[in-house]
Amino acid sequence: LDATGDNLSNQDQEVERALRPLSFDDFAGQSHVLENLQVFVKAANLRGEALDHTLFHGPPGLGKTTLAHILANELQTGIKITSGPVIDKPGDLAGLLTNLEPRDVLFIDEIHRLSSVVEEYLYSAMEDFKIDIMIESGPNARSVEIHLNPFTLVGATTRSGLLTAPMRARFGISSRLEYYSTELLSDIVLRSASILGVSITNDAAIEIAGRSRGTPRIANALLRRVRDFAQIKGNGKIDMEISKYSLKALNVDAFGLDDMDNKILLTIIDKFKGGPVGLSTLSTALSENAETIEEVYEPFLIQKGFINRTPRGREVTDSAYKHLGKLRESKQGG
Ligand code: ADP
Repeated sequence: LDATGDNLSNQDQEVERALRPLSFDDFAGQSHVLENLQVFVKAANLRGEALDHTLFHGPPGLGKTTLAHILANELQTGIKITSGPVIDKPGDLAGLLTNLEPRDVLFIDEIHRLSSVVEEYLYSAMEDFKIDIMIESGPNARSVEIHLNPFTLVGATTRSGLLTAPMRARFGISSRLEYYSTELLSDIVLRSASILGVSITNDAAIEIAGRSRGTPRIANALLRRVRDFAQIKGNGKIDMEISKYSLKALNVDAFGLDDMDNKILLTIIDKFKGGPVGLSTLSTALSENAETIEEVYEPFLIQKGFINRTPRGREVTDSAYKHLGKLRESKQGG
């Protein structure tokens, strides 16, 4: 399990779909985002118009894809799903766009990874619901303008910093998703357990939630693994004891930090004496993309109080030293 959530098995992905909330009412947390979306959806429904193009940004596993589905449900429209790296050329996009019914949602995951030609092609589709397509070939080749049904583009990105300004400007609605509190995650765990038909105690749900890196996807994944342990090593029910046993066996960090999180902290401590260290230096030392560190990993470490951002760079805190069982070298002058 890592923060990017890229390594789910097919079976996990299937269960994940089953656990996905389908309406605003089922969706826990992000209340600020949700309240606004509810207003915009109501207004669009009342006017019979397509919802404005909507961008969701924030770390993986916080509910961007889920919200795209919920929007389509609440708009009572269809949804077509694709992702940035999958759309090779403008023609692929034209196929998708011309097949949209009025007010449909087109969901593009990882929208920051669209190629620039495809991205530019998307601009007029988003703005005027028009595209140019090439017909025939050779000397007869010509481009014709095609009118599209009004649709809503829902884009999701973990790296809003990589989105171009013209792309960003074309979204009427832009919402940032935040990490979830342990309390909210434990509600999500309880809901998921009831969908999976497994009994779980409240304190066990809180224990799993607290180790889920503020992320519903991880909470659900841990729940499924703990369920396995309960079935094989216990009596099938999830209580505090089997939860603690499983989380230990799974090597889950007490704060839910994953390998990369810990590697970031250790690198700052071991190679840079706790910091401050600049982002690009850190990125080289870790062989990890600077934007990924900044937008995927760092927000959680800052929220948990393990890293501070200072004008001179990133610095780890005393809690980070404590968490990793390291002693801080005393700095000059105390
Ligand atoms: P993202 O697209 O941001 O990576 P997803 O929308 O795929 O994240 O969410 C991952 C899983 O987490 C979903 O299958 C869903 O079950 C669960 N999930 C996400 N947000 C919530 C939420 N607010 N309430 C309940 N479950 C959620």
